[in-house]
Amino acid sequence: MPDKVHPNAPHRFVAQRTLGLAESVIREMTRLALHHGAVNLSQGYPDFPAPAILKDAAQRAIAADINQYAITWGAKNFRDALARKYSPLLGWDINPEAEITVTCGATEAMIATMMALLNPGDEVIVFEPFYENYGPDCMLSGAIPRYVTMHPPEWRFSPSELEAAFNEKTRAIIVNTPNNPTGKVFDAQELETIASFCRRHDVLAITDEIYEHILYDGRRHIPIASLAGMRERTVTINSLSKSYSVTGWRVGSIIAAQDLSNSIRKVHDFLTVGAAAPLQEAGVTAVALPESYYQQLAADYTRRRDLLLQILEGCGFSCFHPYGAYYIMADISAFGFPNDSAFVQHLIRDIGVAAVPGSSFYRNPALGAHQVRFAFCKKFETLEDAGNRLRRLKSR
Ligand code: GLN
Repeated sequence: MPDKVHPNAPHRFVAQRTLGLAESVIREMTRLALHHGAVNLSQGYPDFPAPAILKDAAQRAIAADINQYAITWGAKNFRDALARKYSPLLGWDINPEAEITVTCGATEAMIATMMALLNPGDEVIVFEPFYENYGPDCMLSGAIPRYVTMHPPEWRFSPSELEAAFNEKTRAIIVNTPNNPTGKVFDAQELETIASFCRRHDVLAITDEIYEHILYDGRRHIPIASLAGMRERTVTINSLSKSYSVTGWRVGSIIAAQDLSNSIRKVHDFLTVGAAAPLQEAGVTAVALPESYYQQLAADYTRRRDLLLQILEGCGFSCFHPYGAYYIMADISAFGFPNDSAFVQHLIRDIGVAAVPGSSFYRNPALGAHQVRFAFCKKFETLEDAGNRLRRLKSR
């Protein structure tokens, strides 16, 4: 039998499933920012300290020798705490013994879920602009992403375009609200439209709700699992990263009905065994924080959003107003660059500020060719520093 891959082919030791994957543009921008000494408003991670109460809890856990594997699907006290937090939000008594899995961040939660619940050839509906992991997650699971565009300025989807994406191969839809990169917060009616298609076509909703507490202007987060008929068909993904400013801890969670969780837990176990045990201990403290913590978080982010909006608009960007998460999508047409990548290169090298080219959030790069994403999860002084540099930009 002849070899399928020619012995001298450049990729002869590389698995087919990786060939279509490109490097994460978000993480590449962080590297470029470091290299050029640019203020990094690209990758979404805070440059301010994590809450002292969480750092103390993690340090105490290590000192108390909680340094060996936790139970693979999560330390019992952390799962109990997650059940207490999320039961009232989702609307049923979540069983921490059967319906919760703790993962290494929402990133592992998403890939473990897809590998556990999708078969090769299944289709997954992904709204665009999207967070860039969902497409590669589909590819690694053998599934095929099918994109539905959210249209600026409000980033609404057309219900008929969404309905047209459902077919007999559709197995899941990814719902990321509050949304990265747009800052859109899906409202009750939009979520009910999605839920009704899921019920009608017998499709799973896989969510990414990591910005659940980062909301502006009175917006409310609605988990799609809380809607009628969705409990059995929703995988709810959350994380400590954004709500508690600990993106490097890599602690995420999955809430799903028992049969779904059984399968997800097996994939999670073989992928990673488990998330860091002492950080799960600190997670118990995190998810038990009072409502006032989240109010302060949202209030602080509102001030950061307003400052960056003011800076960007003052420099000639036309911004899409975010109602959640911590990103601003901005239109760059005023600057006369041929596309988003050329603009971001100029921004990083000559102006000294890093952002993410809009095209990396779309399947068809042309749709994002006049957009860039700025993250504002940064100290006020970092945003001011970026502002001083951005004022050197010349609009036409
Ligand atoms: N979610 C963050 C972003 O979109 C960070 C993603 C990552 O690099 N893991 O920038």
